[in-house]
Amino acid sequence: MIIAIYPGTFDPITNGHLDIIKRTRNLFDKLVIVINENIEKKTLFNVKERLDMIKESIKDFNNVEVLTTSKLTVDFAKEIGASVIIRGLRMVSDFEYELQMSTFNHILDEKIETIFVMADYNYSFLSSSSVKEIALFNGDISSFVPKHVEIALKNRLKK
Ligand code: ADP
Repeated sequence: MIIAIYPGTFDPITNGHLDIIKRTRNLFDKLVIVINENIEKKTLFNVKERLDMIKESIKDFNNVEVLTTSKLTVDFAKEIGASVIIRGLRMVSDFEYELQMSTFNHILDEKIETIFVMADYNYSFLSSSSVKEIALFNGDISSFVPKHVEIALKNRLKK
């Protein structure tokens, strides 16, 4: 059984994340989305809110689940028996950080392989932060996030 993890902040999940999930889930027996709790980034949504938004987004996918962790990604992967880390690549600007992280992870545990998936051209410009920024200025985000995320963003930013 090959288990892959897809770690990230997901603040909030976007259609770009979901595209990566849809395209990779059938390459593995199980795909586990992992929300990193210990990231220093200040988030708009707390871990529980991000978890619930992801759960709603993946409810139709039988081999996809979502978990949270405050551990190192490779340690968490080992704990749940995952041998693959999935990461998405959008612009060249993603490359440097991702190369550094995957090299570190390889040094920490060479049995766990990072696989990069190129963003679909429809989503290569899309990030959680750009969606938040557009929503803040009342822009139309309906093609960037699922409906329930759009509603959650609008409600949060109203406050
Ligand atoms: P992190 O803080 O770990 O980068 P993100 O939630 O921003 O967390 O992203 C998680 C993963 O999803 C990263 O590998 C990122 O490159 C990828 N990703 C984010 N947005 C997109 C997108 N629009 N298309 C493809 N991959 C994406």
